Amino acid sequence: MKNTDKPLKPATLCVHAGAYRDEATGAITTPIFTASSYAYPNPADQNFYQRYFNTPNQRAVAAKLAALEQGEDALVFGSGMAAITTVLFALLKPGDHAVFQEDLYGGSYHFVASELTRFGVEVAFARSQGDFTALLRPNTRLIYVESPSNPLLRCVDLAAVAALAKARGLLTVIDNTVATPINQNPLALGISVVVHSATKYLNGHSDLNAGAVIASREIITRIRPFAVNHGGMLDAHACYMLERGLKTLALRIERQNANAGKLAGWLQKHPAIARVNYPGLPEHPDHAVAARQMRGFGGMLSFELRDAAQAGALLGRFKLATAALSLGGVETLVTSPAKTSHVKMTAEERARVGIRDALLRVSVGIEDGDDIINDFQQALEAQS
Ligand SMILES: *Cc1c(COP(=O)(O)O)cnc(C)c1O
Repeated sequence: MKNTDKPLKPATLCVHAGAYRDEATGAITTPIFTASSYAYPNPADQNFYQRYFNTPNQRAVAAKLAALEQGEDALVFGSGMAAITTVLFALLKPGDHAVFQEDLYGGSYHFVASELTRFGVEVAFARSQGDFTALLRPNTRLIYVESPSNPLLRCVDLAAVAALAKARGLLTVIDNTVATPINQNPLALGISVVVHSATKYLNGHSDLNAGAVIASREIITRIRPFAVNHGGMLDAHACYMLERGLKTLALRIERQNANAGKLAGWLQKHPAIARVNYPGLPEHPDHAVAARQMRGFGGMLSFELRDAAQAGALLGRFKLATAALSLGGVETLVTSPAKTSHVKMTAEERARVGIRDALLRVSVGIEDGDDIINDFQQALEAQS
């Protein structure tokens, strides 16, 4: 891609940003650089090494993600958890205090509650927007959020959290996995660091694990030495796959936004459904916040059946959708959070955070929206 006069839109950045141009052949895709050793000195005057996060395949993906998230630089990791744990170890030290949104991705929650605390970091969990202020202490250094959250799709007011943190000189981190940079750009709202499980929408094809961190050059420079020491990089083949997946991100998300919006509206009218959680619905408690800070409402939704006893049976009746874990791929997947992601919690803990047995979560795919609705219709009809 040559320099253009006008700033480029996300769909264009998905295809072109960060693209590596092989001068020798003019190949329009990035060659896969598998080398674990590079001759020196080389024309770039760099010690290339995959664990240094600086090989051409890693940099191509990082540059694309930095452009999409409106950040200055990025690091690409072997999993979402590698990205998240590296960022927290890099930005926090013993004696520091950090405030985390309570309804985090299960892996993040367990890391924070059981591991970060072992290293002398004090943590607190916010249950409401007000808690982000109420829980601050003199030694608070960082606020960590996930919006929309999984599986209830609650949204945090990101500009408000960013302003609160900036006024006190704190760093803010968001897990932007569920929204994707197509629907939400937290850095533009004042958040300091974006993390992703690129396993989900960014790759989009349910066939690799990866993670990413995007921020200012200064913050990435702070994180990189820890990333190098912890060694959680992504290898060249997986980078190539992720770069390829990212080229269709905007197209996929457009379809997933549309399909999820349609399915949410349809489910809401169905007599067997007690409630639908989707930030695009005017009835959703955080609809106004979501409408303010998101360009699209995303491809994830969850719903509660009136009869909790039917949840398990319903999962077995889908013909197109699959009862499966994870999210963000091209195929529609349905899970029971109480039986999977939140199974380690006690029934009381689940009740407190609103994960009932009647709740099912849907990662809406890119299939034809009417086919998805027809599948839900036949599965729900078979029930009565
Ligand atoms: C899946 C997921 C993660 C963890 O990512 P991995 O790639 O499985 O390590 C973190 N955050 C969110 C929101 C996720 O959905």
